Amino acid sequence: MKRRPLIAGNWKMNGTLAEAKTITQAVVKSAGAIHDADILLCPPFTALTAVGELIKGSAIGLGAQNAYSEAKGAFTGEISVSMLKEVGCSYVIIGHSERRQFFGDTDELIQKKVRAVLAGGLNAILCVGETLEIREKGTTWQVIQKQLEVALDKTDPAQATAQLTIAYEPVWAIGTGRNATPAQAQEVHAQIRAWLTQRFGKTAAEAIRIQYGGSVKPDNALELMSQPDVNGGLIGGASLDPKAFVAIIEAAVQAKGKPCCTH
Ligand code: PEP
Repeated sequence: MKRRPLIAGNWKMNGTLAEAKTITQAVVKSAGAIHDADILLCPPFTALTAVGELIKGSAIGLGAQNAYSEAKGAFTGEISVSMLKEVGCSYVIIGHSERRQFFGDTDELIQKKVRAVLAGGLNAILCVGETLEIREKGTTWQVIQKQLEVALDKTDPAQATAQLTIAYEPVWAIGTGRNATPAQAQEVHAQIRAWLTQRFGKTAAEAIRIQYGGSVKPDNALELMSQPDVNGGLIGGASLDPKAFVAIIEAAVQAKGKPCCTH
């Protein structure tokens, strides 16, 4: 099944306003008219409004890197889904491994955040992935299955179909320059697709995009994006370099035009 790829740039905690402006202008210039993929910029909260202004009129969308599960109140330092909506976000990344590792985001909290994003009418990119220790132990799928089961426990098939993206990000491949082989990525993506089919039904599972993330670069993007169950990428480091980011977008577009991916 041919799915329109989603390429999202996760800038993490990078980007002064001046840097955000330079990156965004360059991406808009080179990729603002690409309509064969969905493109997303996810800058830090402080740059959302500025980036939102610069992408206006282009095909590029705006995403946030996190949101809190509550609507408002005494939650110092947090940002709600409606606040993100107000500044033009259409997507929110939830459960990134850095949130899990450094900020205590548990599967239970991630479930609440996913519910808040979907209930607020935005699209959620739910990140799942295993550590190196887990991969070496041979329990990768058990760990990912649990992450999916808990995070999506309260999600219904209609919401999943319309608003959910999964990002498979092996933790050992994030920011390390070491990426999963295309075969390793495809194996987990196919397992995720099978789980989605059993959990939400075939129609939903076919509609939900599964991105790959972990040291995606221009020179490995085409092969990764050509895998039948890989529907785009969540790009960290390389998304700060507009040339590299646009080359990855072009690779994703090219990959989905290939015969292996048009069935
Ligand atoms: C990420 O932050 O989601 C990511 C995949 O980072 P990198 O591309 O730098 O490995």
